Amino acid sequence: MKHAIPPDQHGATGAAMAAAVETCVHCGFCLPDCPTYRVLGAEADSPRGRIILMKEVLEGDLSAAEAQPHIDRCLGCLACETTCPSGVKYGDLISPYRDFVERDRKRSITDKLRRKFLSTTLPSPKGFRTAVRLAKLARPLRKILPKSLGAPFDLLPKKIAKAEPLASHSKPEGDKVAHVALLAGCAQQVIAPGINTATVSLLTRLGVEVTVPESQVCCGALAWHTGDGDRARAHARQNLEVFPGEIDAIISNAAGCGSALHEYPTILAGEPEQEKAEQFTAKVFDITTFLDTLDIPSPQEASKPLKIAYHDACHLAHAQGVRDAPRRLLKSIPGVELIELPDSNVCCGSAGTYNLDQPQIAAQLGEAKAQLLIDSGADLVASGNIGCLTQLQSHLTKLGADIPIRHTVEILDDAYAGAL
Ligand code: SF4
Ligand code: SF4
Repeated sequence: MKHAIPPDQHGATGAAMAAAVETCVHCGFCLPDCPTYRVLGAEADSPRGRIILMKEVLEGDLSAAEAQPHIDRCLGCLACETTCPSGVKYGDLISPYRDFVERDRKRSITDKLRRKFLSTTLPSPKGFRTAVRLAKLARPLRKILPKSLGAPFDLLPKKIAKAEPLASHSKPEGDKVAHVALLAGCAQQVIAPGINTATVSLLTRLGVEVTVPESQVCCGALAWHTGDGDRARAHARQNLEVFPGEIDAIISNAAGCGSALHEYPTILAGEPEQEKAEQFTAKVFDITTFLDTLDIPSPQEASKPLKIAYHDACHLAHAQGVRDAPRRLLKSIPGVELIELPDSNVCCGSAGTYNLDQPQIAAQLGEAKAQLLIDSGADLVASGNIGCLTQLQSHLTKLGADIPIRHTVEILDDAYAGAL
């Protein structure tokens, strides 16, 4: 199907898409850092190739269906944005493009059911917890379900951690230095509730008052990155309403969620809430960049010398430019040696539901990254995104490596409590 609508007819979003297309000078510098180009070696599965494909579809010279397999294989990792010397804003193109073509996309019934299942379970802690329980009961049926319907069961954890309810309000210890609101996340609350507990514990210990708005919803990342713009806009609008305006910062401790919060002006481009989205986004910080703005004491010494390998989550490093703060904070722990990994700008293959959509590429990237972690000789791995933590843990286990992997904030909380 042809979309005979050039980018300049899509308002503010279209202008950003057109700018991304026009800025690309086709130099190809981005190719070596693109994970799908590294795995598949095909121009159409590179950033440059995809930009040309999207341009042709938007200008009506190519059917969306012909370009689709290559667009679907894009992880949205944005390594290409980091590498590009011309400043192409690939993120301004790929997600709005997916939203645009999804409207006419023909999907099979099983594909629609699978998307419905994922879009109603992953973005809700309650729905996700229920899905894990149901999946446990339904696992015997896994073999008789069509592959595409059974695959989501593989993404769900076999067991879930005990819930750690968060107080809607936590007072700081000692003199108050700031007041923040925390985005609690969805699947992360169920898979690893200790990350939020550690975040609140660390912030309050350092004098920060923490509010967790009760009516907050999913950040919208999953919807936005899979072409469901309407759902993403609904999530963004709700969060704009319920996060208090009089706080110093809005804190995220999941790279993908923080990145989506930063995208609210793009998600709501041309909508009445765009200006409010820009004011909201200006207050969004990853937990590590926020801690880095505070004048905080040094953490306590680790109980034994520790080599920590820090894994850059793409939606921290590439999408938000967060690289130095987590490294600086981890290095500030006496007794910790921070290890730099080779290929640190290459994705681990997590990326939302990519494990389900492109399992072979995801597995190749996950295994390669896990091998680099093993070769590094690290005692412990740190990262700032639940998707990366889950993906790397799974591949480390498959390779028989017993290296613990934790969120950066959990390590810092232990260090400040003298428990590392
Ligand atoms: S996206 Fe940037 S690096 Fe890649 S081909 Fe275009 S201009 Fe070159
Ligand atoms: S976002 Fe990642 S996977 Fe997609 S084109 Fe850019 S580098 Fe490649």
